[in-house]
Amino acid sequence: MEVQVSNFIRNIVAEDVAAGKHGGKVITRFPPEPNGYLHIGHAKSICLNFGLAAEFGGHCNLRFDDTNPTKEEQEYVDSIIEDVRWLGFDWGDRLYYASDYFDKLYEWAVQLIKMGKAYVCDLSAEEIREYRGTLTEPGKESPYRNRSVEENLDLFERMRKGEFPDGSKTLRAKIDMASGNINMRDPVMYRIKHEDHHRTGNKWCIYPMYDYAHGQSDSIEGVTHSICTMEYEDHRPLYDWFLDQLGIHHPRQIEFARLNLSHTVLSKRRLLKLVNEGYVKGWNDPRMPTLAGMRRRGYTPDAIRNFCNRIGVAKKESLVDMGLLEYCVREHLNKIAPRVMAVLRPLKVVITNYPEGQEEYLDAINNPEDPDAGTRKVPFSNVLYIERDDFMETPPKQFFRLAPGREVRLRYAYFIKCESVVKDENGEIVELHCTYDPATRGGDAPDGRKVKATLHWVSAEHAIEAEVRLYDYLFVKEDPNDVEEGKEFTDYINPKSLEVLKSCRLEPSLKDAKIGDRFQFERMGYFCVDIVDSKPGSPVFNRIVTLKDEWAKIQKGKK
Ligand code: ATP
Ligand code: MG
Repeated sequence: MEVQVSNFIRNIVAEDVAAGKHGGKVITRFPPEPNGYLHIGHAKSICLNFGLAAEFGGHCNLRFDDTNPTKEEQEYVDSIIEDVRWLGFDWGDRLYYASDYFDKLYEWAVQLIKMGKAYVCDLSAEEIREYRGTLTEPGKESPYRNRSVEENLDLFERMRKGEFPDGSKTLRAKIDMASGNINMRDPVMYRIKHEDHHRTGNKWCIYPMYDYAHGQSDSIEGVTHSICTMEYEDHRPLYDWFLDQLGIHHPRQIEFARLNLSHTVLSKRRLLKLVNEGYVKGWNDPRMPTLAGMRRRGYTPDAIRNFCNRIGVAKKESLVDMGLLEYCVREHLNKIAPRVMAVLRPLKVVITNYPEGQEEYLDAINNPEDPDAGTRKVPFSNVLYIERDDFMETPPKQFFRLAPGREVRLRYAYFIKCESVVKDENGEIVELHCTYDPATRGGDAPDGRKVKATLHWVSAEHAIEAEVRLYDYLFVKEDPNDVEEGKEFTDYINPKSLEVLKSCRLEPSLKDAKIGDRFQFERMGYFCVDIVDSKPGSPVFNRIVTLKDEWAKIQKGKK
């Protein structure tokens, strides 16, 4: 696994270890709320937490922050477990749930009531909001704030027993309604929800708020470094307050900026909307920034980890270019993906001087980056397909590929020359008649004559037919989170994010491609056998990335 590039969090952890804090131990955790699938932003947090633990000989827990029964589902829990594992991380036997701590959290709430530090409040959610004040004005104390400890104990117990309807009462921390930090203005610790929980069933009808559960859950697990995103910076004093009042183990919280990626959105609420309203076909749609989507698209876990390492960790938010992620994907696939020939938009070529019914097998290199990958045989015959875009009847100056009277090389095969063009009654080109030069077998002319282009091709009789799906960015706008007035983020969806090509022709070796296998289709990009829609003998391919390195171009432009 990659060693982490140095960053400020790593430095803090290293200092703590060197100073012997927490006995030199490092325990981190990744704490997702199971209310959606993981996305590439979560991957940043996963790599950071698991990476630090591994580097300092500690461990990282996987903990579901499942305090809200309304939005949480088993499907999400399962997908998160699968995705973290796929990314390459292991939490051993430390799979935890905040709901495992409901009893303990309840006990601590009772303790805080007894200490006079928490009270039952009858204000409605609306009223609590009104009483809270604003950034510039202090809040107002609740009329229920000075209930006696006995009354609070009695009411809280009865809340738990289900005597009161949803929303009629809350348990609140008694801190300071005039605090400059709104989070400290008597925040709600428990609310009533007569709802079944995916793990605790109907045992509870009161549920702890995230802000009350989170710090204590970390404490229970002995977390030494509680790493979270910047929006929790203002919550830290509250977490500190709970831990100090209770006098329990105190993790060190460190905040970092969340990842934003260009041409996509990374908020579960927005991703859920894309799924629910049919803008994409599910959480694992290959255009989604979810790990499930990227896996299906064909991204490798190595590439994603590498990306997370490269973007670094900072306090300031920025927008990372999708080109960098694609660059990382390409870089890895270049090393591991076998090369094959596939024609996505076929144009028929008849080699008029090649005997009909004859076939021969030519040697093709599997991966020039990997000498051990060897060679394979590709069949050649008198009817071939080439890419429609590789021919122009009246080519402009810069076009060096096939045209009437022009000679090009067929990769691993022969030079061919276009002799004539056959059209249908509408004037559409339906096939080309070419001649080949037998002396150029393997791709070079003994007389030293040169051609300006090398094309990929397949033999018509031997090729297999397959569906290929090409993807583009899901959003046309670089930052779709920056929504102009009167618009919605969905207004920026790219109408051309998916193009389906139904009758592509692939070299026959792909007949045995298995679900999830990745290839480079020469000149066309990297492709992966779709894990959902492929059937035995009839693969569907997703384009993972093109071969064009937009990132390198961007970097050059910046210099
Ligand atoms: P969202 O805003 O997408 O709903 P969230 O923060 O509510 O995300 P959680 O399930 O609570 O999602 O997140 C689990 C962990 O992943 C948290 O520690 C959170 O800080 C981190 N995380 C979430 N989104 C990002 C992101 N874009 N970049 C980095 N870390 C993130
Ligand atoms: Mg959250």
